[in-house]
Amino acid sequence: MLNDWLELTLAGRQPESREGRLAGVHFVIHDPGVLELRPDKSAPDAHACIISAGIHGNETAPIELLGELLARLEAGLVSVGAPVLIILGNPPAIRLGQRFCTTNLNRLFQRGLTDEGDEPQRARQLMAAVDDFYARHSRPRLHYDLHTAIRDSRYPRFAVEPFDDTVVTNPEQWRWLAGAGLQAALHQHQHSWTFSHYSKHYHHAQAFTLELGKVHAFGDNDLAALRPMRVLLEALIAGGEPQEKNPGNMVFFRVAHELMRESEDFALCFPEDTPNFSEFAVGTRLARDASAGDFTVSDAPLAVVFPNAKVEIGARAALLARKTPPPDD
Ligand SMILES: [Zn+2]
Repeated sequence: MLNDWLELTLAGRQPESREGRLAGVHFVIHDPGVLELRPDKSAPDAHACIISAGIHGNETAPIELLGELLARLEAGLVSVGAPVLIILGNPPAIRLGQRFCTTNLNRLFQRGLTDEGDEPQRARQLMAAVDDFYARHSRPRLHYDLHTAIRDSRYPRFAVEPFDDTVVTNPEQWRWLAGAGLQAALHQHQHSWTFSHYSKHYHHAQAFTLELGKVHAFGDNDLAALRPMRVLLEALIAGGEPQEKNPGNMVFFRVAHELMRESEDFALCFPEDTPNFSEFAVGTRLARDASAGDFTVSDAPLAVVFPNAKVEIGARAALLARKTPPPDD
């Protein structure tokens, strides 16, 4: 039944029944791609958990990971001891095997959004689903939004910590993420209207965008590398104690600068297949822009993350980051 939900959602169909039961848990389908697990009894320390995947339609590994998780829930291999909202972000784009249909969904999660179109409509629906879920659960809030990156990375599995000046990341989060096999973390330096930022900014959730390897087609993903992440998600769903590791094993970065594309005549001055977190020395020219001029590394080396020269004018073409010590425990 839960397995069917994922398959039917991907096929663009609605399951016959919007509610059902497994041992110890009631489940409800709110909207296409929005499934809530309501345990008969929540563990004392359980979080209200949101686990989302497929916000970008071509990022299939997290969707396969969710499929594995739902199959294990259905088989009774995972108990449910926490309220959980499972979200499949952009089913039409997943069906097309594309990042998005008309615009990048993961920049639209801002209240008061007035844009029209498929992705803005979906962003409003998902924001309402998150608002409704958190309003009904007075527990510590958590949101992991699962992605994969378009390019190679010096650290294939890394967390992006959304910026918010009022919410402090609980140190246990870093221990859990280290325990789940994440290799690096990137602290953002200003608001960006992503899905995980939405939960952090408006609901004070512990929230992260988790990049779990590289984009591949369905069936071509190495789920073995994501086993520790599945173990973490299952611990959260059970309301139990996640495995921990020393976050000192991870490498931490802070965004120092956002490289914006400001004109038609714009180019990044490094190869297109440059892996995320590649570092460039002081004096290296990173971008040419007919209106903004050249951007050259100054003061200290900069690592490039999420470079994309083909963004719309006015959008971000790369994040530039510097290493920072691990957060205090
Ligand atoms: Zn993504």
